[in-house]
Amino acid sequence: MPPSVASPRRAILQEIAGRTARPSTTPNGSAHTNGAHLPTSSYFGCNTFGARQMRDKLPAHVYQKLVASVRLGKKLDLEIAPVVAQVIKEWAISRGVTHFTHWFQPQTGLTAEKHDAFLSFDENQHPMESFSASQLIQSEPDASSFPSGGLRATWEARGYTAWNPASPVFIHEVGGVRTLCIPSVFIGYNGEALDEMTPMLRSSDMLSQRAIELLELLGDKGVQRVFTTLGPEQEYFLIDRNYFAMRPDLVMAGRTLVGAPPPRGQQLEDHYFGGIPERIQACIAEIEQELYKLGVPIVTRHNEVAPSQFEMAPHFEETDLGVDHNQMVMATMRRVALRHGLQALLHEKPFAGINGSGKHCNWSMSITADNELDGLNLLKPGKTPHQNVRFLVFLAAVLRGVHKHSGLLRAGIATSGNEHRLGANEAPPAIISVFMGDMLTKLIDGIIAGKEASRGAEQQLIKLGVAKLPDIEKDNTDRNRTSPFAFTGNKFEFRAVGSSQSIAFPVTLLNAAVADGLADITEALKAELKKTKSVDDAVLKVVKESFKESTPVRFEGNNYAEEWVTEAEKRGLPNYRRTPEALAQLVTKQSRSLLTKLGVLTKEELESRYHVRMERYIKDMLIELYTLQQMVDTMVLPAAFTYAGQLATSAAQAKAAGIKSIPQIDAANEVGELIEELRSERDKLAEVIEKAEHMHGDLDKCAKMLTSTGADAMAAVRAACDKLELVVADELWPLPKYREMLFPV
Ligand code: ADP
Ligand code: MG
Repeated sequence: MPPSVASPRRAILQEIAGRTARPSTTPNGSAHTNGAHLPTSSYFGCNTFGARQMRDKLPAHVYQKLVASVRLGKKLDLEIAPVVAQVIKEWAISRGVTHFTHWFQPQTGLTAEKHDAFLSFDENQHPMESFSASQLIQSEPDASSFPSGGLRATWEARGYTAWNPASPVFIHEVGGVRTLCIPSVFIGYNGEALDEMTPMLRSSDMLSQRAIELLELLGDKGVQRVFTTLGPEQEYFLIDRNYFAMRPDLVMAGRTLVGAPPPRGQQLEDHYFGGIPERIQACIAEIEQELYKLGVPIVTRHNEVAPSQFEMAPHFEETDLGVDHNQMVMATMRRVALRHGLQALLHEKPFAGINGSGKHCNWSMSITADNELDGLNLLKPGKTPHQNVRFLVFLAAVLRGVHKHSGLLRAGIATSGNEHRLGANEAPPAIISVFMGDMLTKLIDGIIAGKEASRGAEQQLIKLGVAKLPDIEKDNTDRNRTSPFAFTGNKFEFRAVGSSQSIAFPVTLLNAAVADGLADITEALKAELKKTKSVDDAVLKVVKESFKESTPVRFEGNNYAEEWVTEAEKRGLPNYRRTPEALAQLVTKQSRSLLTKLGVLTKEELESRYHVRMERYIKDMLIELYTLQQMVDTMVLPAAFTYAGQLATSAAQAKAAGIKSIPQIDAANEVGELIEELRSERDKLAEVIEKAEHMHGDLDKCAKMLTSTGADAMAAVRAACDKLELVVADELWPLPKYREMLFPV
């Protein structure tokens, strides 16, 4: 090869260096040539048919019924469906929509859609646009190829989707084509949940029922619904698409399987909150604009800790909507980035050695009521003693639920991607604990230590400062970034959720755990109220007991420290580091009894989720193993052989020229040794693949083997590759390097 020919990698590097920012576009697609920008509020939600548009378009009584069903989380009244469908159709057609689809969330972590045309024909075979109430409400995709974990094999083969009116319909614009999307649940013919949304909605209902019952005992009447709120902070990487395209590992597995560490990583701590580069800024702005059209309230953007890592967060919303919106956030990022020559990486650990990405799920509980309680955040300390007693009761319920079901919560975030994150010194560990902050820790410990015999509850509470709790501003709680589940003033932040995950499942399990905590407290309170007339006395006693019992789950220290692992073990907190053992927590007797008792998942539905997730883990691992093997065989080894050959040629030439010192020989021998090391590790990798393919029938055994022997084999191959990367001539190396992908020029 003539030395003047640049390697493909070098050619790309040059091309990228010459790129400029693609101008951001207005919401209607034209460039900002005159510098005029539309205010966000002028087009926010223009592609959704939400409450505002419905109020304008629907007859008042229909609108009221619809809103009532949305507000109370009830099914849509079939009588009003035809009117709603008609109005939606007219709105969609006026906006150039030709097709509609039920938009749902099968157990793939992504969303699914199947488009149908509005086009139909009247009795004279004249074309017309039609969209009926039944099409709005229900659809039957041929859904036999979605993962069901055996559910459909044992029952019906078919499933259907049904509109969830709590989430507004929206118009999806892809490549100039506009499609009406109807957010839906996906269920089998006997009502079995085939998707992520159905159990989540059930868990919200259960939490609501339990919370209302408890509130009534506390004297808070007139509550119609307690709903949870969600504000997910989404972390992601943006890298140049050309690099992405040249990395089979990123394309196939979403993460780099080889790659030597660059001399500079995140040690300068200069990326976090730094200025956003122009090309990236243009891209992020366009992602936001697309999301604004869909009514997704993105309000925060900033650089994250790792180079080329960013974060986007919305204003919090009711959880069902927040979950749907997060799916839109992920899909929109992936789509819009391409327009800017970029690739959004949502994997939990795209690059070894630097921070991975999480999705901090801020979560709380709020009230829908026809009185002054409406809109109240149950995790916000209040102004009166009663409000603060209520606050403590709900806090106690969350702590209790999280403590009791910490294994289950860990299972909800168990994926092959998150495995690389949890437990490394950058993300919350696999041990689920709760951070409360100084003030509340003192308060809770004070309650536990209190001697209720000596004085009444009221006096005790006054003494502890409960009567006049200050607003616990976020900034007052020391921000322990290492905790997987932290109280931040008026909400909890579930930080261990993976960046690429659907939030539905982790939140379903959290809702269930908290519903259980609420039920326990309610029961204890009922028993106590039989013994005493004073609600305050009873509450204090119950809260005290509950706080005491959940003490082990509270941890204020550094969750990354090695000592915490030992300490947690002493406290009896589980530490499931690997995905298979974490997933096994789904099907323990305790988890099963919780979820079936609440009616969140039947035994079969739960079993199916365990299967789907275990299978997914095995598939993810096998994809990585195969990809790595192919990269080694067709990219890394050939590059190393070429380099060894060049050294040999050079040595022979030096010898022929009578040169005495020929260090090329040592260099070639060193490369040869590294090649041998790689080839032997690569053979072990091939053995693992072979073994796994033969074990496929036995999920447990296969997953266990892959998470240990399989992961070790990948690590060993990687180490050998990375050594070679550091010696093979740069222009021969076929894979974009970390420094190139992470530090755009
Ligand atoms: P930080 O990065 O400091 O944790 P951010 O401002 O990036 O905070 O994100 C905080 C998130 O928490 C936002 O999405 C915000 O809307 C959300 N949030 C605030 N209050 C609540 C609440 N009551 N329930 C759920 N999420 C909330
Ligand atoms: Mg944040």
